[in-house]
Amino acid sequence: MSSKIYKPQTLAIQAGYTKDTQKTMSVPIYQSTAYEFDNAEQAGARFALKELGNIYSRLTNPTNDVLEKRLAALEGGASAVVTSSGSSAIFYAIANIAQAGDNILIADKIYGGSSNLFLHTLKRFGIQARVFCIDDISTLEALIDTKTKAIFFESLSNPQIAIAPIEEIVAIAKKHSIISICDNTVATPILCNPIKWGVDVVVHSLSKYISGQGSVIAGAIIDSPSLNHLIKNNPRYEHFNTPDTSYHGLVYADVNLPIFNLRVRTALLRDIGASLSAFNSWIVLQGLETLKVRIYEHSLNAQKIASFLCDHPKIKSVNYPSIQNSPYKELAKKYFKDNLCSGLVSFEIKGDFEEAKKVCNSTNLFSIVVNIGDTKSLIVHPASTTHSQLSKEELEKANISSSLIRLSVGIEDAEDLIEDLTIALK
Ligand SMILES: *Cc1c(COP(=O)(O)O)cnc(C)c1O
Repeated sequence: MSSKIYKPQTLAIQAGYTKDTQKTMSVPIYQSTAYEFDNAEQAGARFALKELGNIYSRLTNPTNDVLEKRLAALEGGASAVVTSSGSSAIFYAIANIAQAGDNILIADKIYGGSSNLFLHTLKRFGIQARVFCIDDISTLEALIDTKTKAIFFESLSNPQIAIAPIEEIVAIAKKHSIISICDNTVATPILCNPIKWGVDVVVHSLSKYISGQGSVIAGAIIDSPSLNHLIKNNPRYEHFNTPDTSYHGLVYADVNLPIFNLRVRTALLRDIGASLSAFNSWIVLQGLETLKVRIYEHSLNAQKIASFLCDHPKIKSVNYPSIQNSPYKELAKKYFKDNLCSGLVSFEIKGDFEEAKKVCNSTNLFSIVVNIGDTKSLIVHPASTTHSQLSKEELEKANISSSLIRLSVGIEDAEDLIEDLTIALK
């Protein structure tokens, strides 16, 4: 592909792949642990980062390289690193900038797995997570001190289906020269581009909409083209600006490459190694090709189902960003392409815990699954599954009532899905 700026759907299909002599249309799966050097000098140059190239697949792999270039192009980033899961991508994004004694600011409405990572696992590493409310960010700035290394939030949150005021969060991050990190998993780069709004780092679980068919676990970190500038000479990120003794005295800030992801690769993938396999990378590439078509269908189906639920006499409340009474309506218009809001819909029935479970049991087309972003429609009752360990007070705080049901709307025919829900709600 030439360097012309192409539109997302074109990038999702063609960016990052230069055909080799075999001219395969499908990106080859380079199933190799290691790579041969032409001579000892080249080997030395690669280890010294004087020449960029493959050494060992824990660090780089040609199939992963195509996926990385494609994701960076789609998000408008400088570079990308793919990892073996979304969770490891998020861990690396934080571990790349924070150490014991530091703190990070995290949004209150985020994925449960990320909450666990921040509030429990990172705590044991000496990194403190301070929670701010994305619906009222007036308290955010007061949480910042000299040890604050990141502000983390989700563009469209799973499972709360809340939209973050991206521009306002970014303005505070920029004012204090702190790296902002946005999890763009549910929105996908087709519907929302956080880097365009000034976000520094985007993370993804590729296991959801991007791969799209519920067949793989994978993650990615994308850094913004302006991030080197933010890190250089910034006292918050001293380890990027002083010699790294584990890399023969390399000063990352002096390197003319996207240094955030360079360090994710040369320090964290090197030492911890949650590397994506070439085969899984290839599966994600297959999904990426149809991402736009799917995310449009997911969004349109979800919108139709949300409207149907709004008019249903047995439904107490519906949560979907583009519906009339959603508190996120204006944010959806501002940040989401064509006002499409992805496939998550949640609703409360006029009934109790048992009746909500009964609705889940009565559907035919919705599978009871704790996942999102599959082409197949999924349904879950949070109070008896994902959130069953929470106390009554914690459930209230998390806005999870006993009659709440969450859907990940698939791309089956919307009429069939609505008929299925009609029967289940009888
Ligand atoms: C699933 C998910 C993750 C974790 O990703 P895995 O690929 O399952 O490790 C992180 N963030 C969000 C928003 C998710 O939905």
